[in-house]
Amino acid sequence: MPVKVMFVQLASCWGCHQSLVDLHETLADVLPQLEIVYWHTVVDYKLHDVEKLPDGSVDVGFTEGFCRTEEDLYLLKLARQKCKLLVSYGTCSTYGGSPALLNLYQIDEGLKRKFMEAESVVDKKIPDMHVPKMLEYVKPNREYVKYDLFLPGCPPEPPLIAEVVTSLLRGEMPKLKERTLCDECPRVKSEVITIKKVKRAFEGIPDPEKCLLEQGYICMGPATREGCGAVCTRAGVPCRGCMGPGPNVLDQGAKMLSALASIVDYESVSPEELVQSVKDVVGTFSKFTLPSSIIPKAVSKKK
Ligand code: SF4
Ligand code: SF4
Ligand code: SF4
Repeated sequence: MPVKVMFVQLASCWGCHQSLVDLHETLADVLPQLEIVYWHTVVDYKLHDVEKLPDGSVDVGFTEGFCRTEEDLYLLKLARQKCKLLVSYGTCSTYGGSPALLNLYQIDEGLKRKFMEAESVVDKKIPDMHVPKMLEYVKPNREYVKYDLFLPGCPPEPPLIAEVVTSLLRGEMPKLKERTLCDECPRVKSEVITIKKVKRAFEGIPDPEKCLLEQGYICMGPATREGCGAVCTRAGVPCRGCMGPGPNVLDQGAKMLSALASIVDYESVSPEELVQSVKDVVGTFSKFTLPSSIIPKAVSKKK
């Protein structure tokens, strides 16, 4: 019997769902085993189609994106109600993701930037008709509903999606590996790392074999969960941390900041120079996880 699934898109770029297409021939094996009961971005389903489904009647639901509006939140809660098993699909859904960096600003500032000031805008008007109420902050979806499985990545890499989907189709609960990205990265690391200069990703040409962090590039590997196959570091690009925090890491940004601070040679770089060499601290260390970070929560509690 086909497995009943629903794909829910909340506030997102649609990249996670698009990455399903990258499954290529695996998708051809998987699709006949699925009965898609809701996927409004692909099939012309409406909200009332979900509302009338009996509770718990859908085998698996995948949520992409986070709750930016009250409508997103309603749909998320509805998905939880209708699905036996709910999968948080992608980093936006799991940790808030990079669009949630808007949490650094007021909603009004974000709307003004997007609809009035962005270079590509022609009709400078903030939409006000049929627009759902926006939520003040982005929170990780798990703070609203209970999930059964988290599948991070921006977007999740196809081999990881294939592993998870085929396990679910076998009726088994997939288990993500519990190591950091450094454990699956093939680059050569020294026992003890010391760096004399922090470089930006575009500076110089990195050694093709050596650990990028050891070469002074901010590579988020030590604070990031494995599972993507280290696709970026294999290609010579430092990891930006899109798989989210590694196992037992409470705050990805804080973990990486402390890892970096512990390997700098302070006889060559002063703490002030170190701070100045990182141009965008939040965007570098918490690009994908700001709503899950403990630091803003601690600051707002203090206020
Ligand atoms: S996790 Fe990345 S690819 Fe997926 S919806 Fe968010 S921004 Fe897009
Ligand atoms: S810090 Fe980056 S380059 Fe170095 S081993 Fe870890 S993931 Fe690889
Ligand atoms: S290497 Fe880092 S940034 Fe690149 S896909 Fe993996 S976790 Fe994401």
